[in-house]
Amino acid sequence: MTNARAQKVTWLKGVREAGVYKSVTSYRKRLAGLIADSRKLLGALGERLYLADLHTHSAYSDGAGLVEENAEWAAMAGLDFIFATDHGTTKPKRVTGKLRSVSWGEETGGGWYHIGILEPTPAHKYRNEATLPEAWEEVKALTRFQWVAHPFWAYEQPPEEQYQHVLSDMSELGDMAFEMANGCGEVADAYFLTGAAGSRLADDLLCRGQRVTLVGASDCHLVVEIGTAWTGIYAERCTSKALIEALRAGNCFASEAPLLDVTCNGKPMGSTLKPKVGAKLKLRARVAAAAGVAWVRVISNGKVIKEVWPKHEPVVDLALGRKAARKASYFRIETADANGRHAFSTPIYIRP
Ligand SMILES: [Zn+2]
Ligand SMILES: [Zn+2]
Repeated sequence: MTNARAQKVTWLKGVREAGVYKSVTSYRKRLAGLIADSRKLLGALGERLYLADLHTHSAYSDGAGLVEENAEWAAMAGLDFIFATDHGTTKPKRVTGKLRSVSWGEETGGGWYHIGILEPTPAHKYRNEATLPEAWEEVKALTRFQWVAHPFWAYEQPPEEQYQHVLSDMSELGDMAFEMANGCGEVADAYFLTGAAGSRLADDLLCRGQRVTLVGASDCHLVVEIGTAWTGIYAERCTSKALIEALRAGNCFASEAPLLDVTCNGKPMGSTLKPKVGAKLKLRARVAAAAGVAWVRVISNGKVIKEVWPKHEPVVDLALGRKAARKASYFRIETADANGRHAFSTPIYIRP
């Protein structure tokens, strides 16, 4: 290539990259507008709801940006809070103290698995030779909230053998949390990275009697990924302490855009109800999506017990009556909006 031509190619590359950045920015702003409208549709509930990205990377590990840039982008994307969770380090703590609505965490793990942890003291050391249950136990002593990141990495439909491996490892963790939506490497959808396999995994673990909190995160390595997926958390206030306690209680959902709330006999997501056999259970699910709700599913013991297609109404308020059976069960909600963006509630557990 001649010198002049090489210069032109470099210049055009810059123009293309700036153009891509600009279009992702306007896409993210539009989504943030929809989320803000959805929040208004939730009424008073929306005032205690905080949207948090639990899993972000920066130049402290293999992320391409600064924690400060991630925080700025997150605010533009309509999020209320982010945690800076770099690989094997809690160095972001050096800057998060000076930033509003940002705290630190770490991404660690063992073997094939990655584990997200919030505000660990001290940092955990990833060990290649550790099994998931071993690493999970080590981490428990360091943090108030931990979860399995991207359980299938980037498999939308993991091969059956792979699925069974993950199920068997995760069934050894007892009460746990995992990422139902992970936006790593994406600028739009996060759902398809976990997708149907994530729903199946949640139900298989829940049917074994485990408590399973569902979270979402961008797992960004570039700022543009922030906003693909996040966790909606009902908390007293928007501080890392209050958010972590609400996550611990399971009062949260994984989402790409729709907002939701679920109660059973007035108790929130993550609650355990201990009704007498035959007692009335009143389930209520509220979904708000300014883009319009495409469908809502109520799932109990691995089965869809109710499904509605509300013709893109922006708000769905579902009530469902059931009698408590002898057997332990759970209720959880899945929904999608008219743009094909999903949300997944953490279950409510019934243990008569
Ligand atoms: Zn990871
Ligand atoms: Zn990550």
